[in-house]
Parts: sequence; structure tokens; C-alpha cells
Amino acid sequence: MNQGLLSVDAALAQLLASARPVAEVEEVPTLEATKRVLARPQRSTMDVPPMDNSAMDGYAVRLSDLRSSMKLKVGQKVMAGSVGKPLEPGSAARIFTGAPIPPGADAIVMQEFATVEGDSVTFRKVPEKHEWIRFVGSDVKNGGEILPAGKRLLPQDTGLAASVGLKTLPVFRRLRLGLFFTGDELAMPGEPLAPGRIYNSNRFTLRGLAEVFGCELHDYGIVPDTLEATRDALRRAAAECDLIVTSGGVSVGEADYVKPAVEAEGSLLMWRIAMKPGRPLAFGRVKDSFFIGLPGNPVSSFVTFLIFVRPFILRSQGISSVEPKGIEARADFDWPKPDARREFLRVKWNAQGGLEIYPTQDSAVLTSTAWADGLVDNPAGRAIRKGEPVRFLPYSELYW
Ligand code: AMP
Ligand code: MG
Repeated sequence: MNQGLLSVDAALAQLLASARPVAEVEEVPTLEATKRVLARPQRSTMDVPPMDNSAMDGYAVRLSDLRSSMKLKVGQKVMAGSVGKPLEPGSAARIFTGAPIPPGADAIVMQEFATVEGDSVTFRKVPEKHEWIRFVGSDVKNGGEILPAGKRLLPQDTGLAASVGLKTLPVFRRLRLGLFFTGDELAMPGEPLAPGRIYNSNRFTLRGLAEVFGCELHDYGIVPDTLEATRDALRRAAAECDLIVTSGGVSVGEADYVKPAVEAEGSLLMWRIAMKPGRPLAFGRVKDSFFIGLPGNPVSSFVTFLIFVRPFILRSQGISSVEPKGIEARADFDWPKPDARREFLRVKWNAQGGLEIYPTQDSAVLTSTAWADGLVDNPAGRAIRKGEPVRFLPYSELYW
């Protein structure tokens, strides 16, 4: 039944085998490095914290002093950002979170266990040795690796880089992604919708995805259904982009010019993929650019972008692990008539922690994608019975 169809895995393997990482590295301010891919591992040239400091607001003490008396004179006050003097025998230092431990102190008593009278303080608790002291280098050691190459930087990664004083980071140049949208029926929101026309929703969905994956976007807009216009758009995009992604025109209908246009400007493989939604997919080269032609149906172009373009982009950006992490979840729905192709079903968590399915899985019904929390990756021909485990790909995993 699936004769002549290529499996998702085989198509993906071919795509990824061709992807080559962007070679150029640029130094960007750490402040702007979130979502960029680190080109070289980063090591710390300092200890973090740089000095022993207090983890609490309280009193720095010398434990041996507390053996003779629980009441000590408060000899000094150490604020975060200042430096105390050595602790005099028989005295405590008022100290605040993050303030350096005065030399001689070996524990902090939380202020909750202290009562102040005049210039003395009485403790209700003997602290453990080193209690509430954060030691120099206990977070990061001088010379230690803090971030590996090939990591897509999350906000906390840039924070970590900043904590060791890195003002800039070497990252791969962004992938230049060209998008255009074929179809004489397409109009932009804001334009009146003449009879027979529809709005170009794919432009919004695919642009948004380009942004999610940190690409430098080149948007060539709507391209009319003619061979010349399609060839022209390809030539312009190939001159500026690493990867060209299009929507529509990859079927073999009369108004589908993507195939002949890419063949005229470069080379092309036309695939019929054993997946639903999204059977037709085109993969090729135009000059030095790669080309991926997605189907026009809005759900199909969204899903095929996530399944094929996403890993291709990530790999091209120097990321080795591109497989989305599927999780096992419970289907709270029946799916008695599975397709002979692998399906990506739009589903959503319910209050019972199971998955509900959107009633219409038609590839033209974009509402399903907006309603959903992600996709169930259902193997070819597998009927699902309520209560059974399924492989769930949450958007949160696919959007990274
Ligand atoms: P095609 O692959 O060009 O045959 O298009 C398949 C279906 O998707 C048709 O119903 C098109 O009208 C629709 N379609 C194509 N491009 C877009 C787009 N950019 N936005 C919304 N729908 C589209
Ligand atoms: Mg079309």
C-alpha cells in the first residue's frame, strides 16, 4: 500500500546527511546570545563564587567562641559588596546574604536564631561547622568547562557565562533562511479577499518558525504560479540564503511550478513521504543553497516543517542532537481507523493528564494546530484504543 512512498526516517536521514554546519563564527555580546549556538566550548578563568560568602542574613561566628558563651558582641557589619575585617575573638559579625565571610569566621547563624540586645547578640542555636557558608569555587572552578560547543544557548546558559565574566561568546552565524509562498489564490491580511482567494496563513506560521529556530529570515513573499516567477524567486533566494523553504506547488498539478523551476535552476528530488499530513516534499539544491519544498496545506506545511526543516536547521547550525524527545502519554481517545502512513495527530492534554484528539485531522484545518499542545507520532497502521500509551511530541520539544 505504501509502495513508492519514502519513510519519514529515510527522508530525514537523507536530509541530515546533506546538511553541513555553517562555518562562520561570530563573537556576539553575551547579553544577546540567547538562542544562538555556541561554536567553541567555554571555560571559566575564575572561581565562582569568587570568595567565601554568606548564604543567609545572620551572624558570622567562630564556633569555638560559642563553647564558652552563646552571647557575643557584634563587632562589625558586612554588607554584600563590601569586605569585613578579621573576626575578633569573642565577637560576631552582622552579615548579609552574599557578603564575604570575615577571616576567622567558620559558620553563619541565621538571624531567625538570634536576639539582639544593644551591641550584643544571643544565639538559640549552635550552627554546624561551615553552616550557610558558600565556598569559593563551589559553583564553578577556575579552568572548568561551563558550556560545551554545539549547545543552543538558553537564558540560563548566558547567565552562567556572565557569572564567570564572559562579555562576548563565539557563536555560529545564523542560518539564512529564505521563504516564499506559491499560489495565485493567496492574499495578505489587510487586502480585500476577492472571490476564490484565501489568506496566506503559511507565511505567518513559517516565519514564526524561522524565528523560533533563530534563523536570519529572508521573506520573498507571495510568488505567482508561473515558471518564470518561481525561477526568479529561486535565483534571488539562492543568492542570499543557505536554505530556501517554500510552501505549495509541490504536487504535480497544472499550477505546480516548484518542480520544474528547481530542476531548471538546480537539482531536485521529489519525494512522496509515507506520512500524514504532508505527503509531497521536495528536496534539492539551487546553486549553493539547499531547497526544501513543503506542501501548501497549512497543517501539512506546519508539520513537515517541524519534522524535516527543524532538524535540518538545527544540524546546519552545528547542533548534533536534533531528534525531538518524545514522551509516553496516555491516549484518552480511540483512533480505530489509522492510516497506512505514519500519522502526526494534533492532540491536547486534558485535566486527567491524558491526551484528547482534535476531532478533525484534515490537513487544511489549521485550527487543530492552534488548539493542540503537540503531535502524537503514530506508527503506520496502528489503531489506538482509549487508555493506551502513545508517543507524544509536545510543541515545547519541537520548538527547540
Ligand atoms: P498546493 O500545494 O499549492 O496545491 O496547495 C495545497 C492547498 O494549500 C491549497 O488548498 C492551497 O490553497 C493551500 N495553500 C497553499 N499555500 C498556502 C498558504 N501560503 N497559506 C494558506 N494556504 C495555502
Ligand atoms: Mg498551489
